[in-house]
Amino acid sequence: MTSFADLGLSAPILHALEDVGYEQPSPIQEQAIPPLLKGQDIIGQAQTGSGKTAAFGIPLMEYVDPEIRETQALVLTPTRELCIQVTQALRSYGARKNIDVVAVFGGAPIRTQQAQLRSGGHVVVGTVGRVMDLLSRGSLVLHSCRYVVLDEADEMLDLGFIEDVERILSSAPSSRQTALFSATMPPPIRALAERYLYDPVMVKVAAQNLTVDTVEQFRIEVASGDKAEKLAEVLAQERPTQAIVFVRTKIGCDRLGRVLKDRGMNVRVLHGDLSQGQRDGVMLAFKGGRVPVLVATDVAARGLDISTVTHVVNYDVPTSPDVYVHRIGRTGRVGRSGRAVTFVEARQKRELQEIEEHIGMALTEWKPGGHVTPAPVTERPRRHDKPKITRTGEGPWTTLLISAGRADGLEPGDLVHAFTAEAGLEGEAVRDVRVLERFSLLDVPARDAERVITALDGHRVKDARLGVEAARA
Ligand code: AMP
Repeated sequence: MTSFADLGLSAPILHALEDVGYEQPSPIQEQAIPPLLKGQDIIGQAQTGSGKTAAFGIPLMEYVDPEIRETQALVLTPTRELCIQVTQALRSYGARKNIDVVAVFGGAPIRTQQAQLRSGGHVVVGTVGRVMDLLSRGSLVLHSCRYVVLDEADEMLDLGFIEDVERILSSAPSSRQTALFSATMPPPIRALAERYLYDPVMVKVAAQNLTVDTVEQFRIEVASGDKAEKLAEVLAQERPTQAIVFVRTKIGCDRLGRVLKDRGMNVRVLHGDLSQGQRDGVMLAFKGGRVPVLVATDVAARGLDISTVTHVVNYDVPTSPDVYVHRIGRTGRVGRSGRAVTFVEARQKRELQEIEEHIGMALTEWKPGGHVTPAPVTERPRRHDKPKITRTGEGPWTTLLISAGRADGLEPGDLVHAFTAEAGLEGEAVRDVRVLERFSLLDVPARDAERVITALDGHRVKDARLGVEAARA
């Protein structure tokens, strides 16, 4: 097995990798680092999750001389999120070499970034638009830039940035070294590589390497009308630490987010119609672990790299096998395991088949109870073998009135937790949770109402003592 030391890295970099806890190179790193250290151009075909950032970032950090106070390397990213992630990663690899990494991206004051560039910036990581802007103002100068990376080039293409990318490449010295990373290789990206890279080495990690090893993959056949219900069941069963639920459209994303919130689940939605500020807020909440479930579109979730994501749910079948692999890459990060569940409607069998062919294996049918996580000791054991769960639209429901609300710091998730963990209800048996200012309402199956009231009346949640009673009709 190759180690980082075998790749010929210097002591400060090896030390930094130890600090971040990387024990051995991932396949893309093993392939890309040696040619990059030799000064060759490369084309890397690899998705998020493969360790591609370190594959180009480690040689880049080896290359930069902290004594020279000029911009020696530039990394271009399609999105602000990826820009920030790459910056953080590069800073950690260069931490023991005193290398200054500056992030430049739109939506933030350009003045601050100009000041950062004036006072340093051995390495600049930037989104295409902002880099163009800084170049045209003369705040960013590339004449000493000998290392350029295009990260997620196919996404730059999708976002319409390719012409700007070409302009930026033309303004860096032609003697520079160039690394192009892309999950897919559509013809315009190949053409770009032909024009701007010199005799590149191709490195590629097969999709299989990315997924099969670390992610357990399941499918569920489901009718379109039953999907939300099924999702609630999957989440209740799987109990993810964090899950990303992928939905094809922005409208679908909002709609599903609402359905889940109405069930009292702590979820946030992320899609392109949100303002940058809103997106940042959602990202922060999710990354900080305050939100367990994120409902997102592919575009919005681009480059999300969160090591605590344990589950990916494809609520809508991905539009292509590449997208599937990309989505699945969000869980089962290097050295960790994850689970992925794909919903398939009868008319989508073909798409499923294409995915299975692409990854070279069949997805396993998901079954409830197949994944048994030990319940925390404070929770009552769940009773999966109990009589059938009451489903939406079945049997009578009783609305309960709870004498605590937002003013007491209560959130829907707190109530769902109390009603499931403390009163032994299934997640699906708690619905329509509405937390108001001073009190809350929720529905439970009528036959459980009395027992639940007895179990929870007087129970403390956060700072509130819950008074629980049946609401008058
Ligand atoms: P990337 O594909 O660059 O987005 O990296 C995916 C994740 O893998 C990030 O959280 C990295 O910190 C992590 N990672 C990258 N290389 C290694 C490695 N050699 N060992 C362990 N984790 C790694």
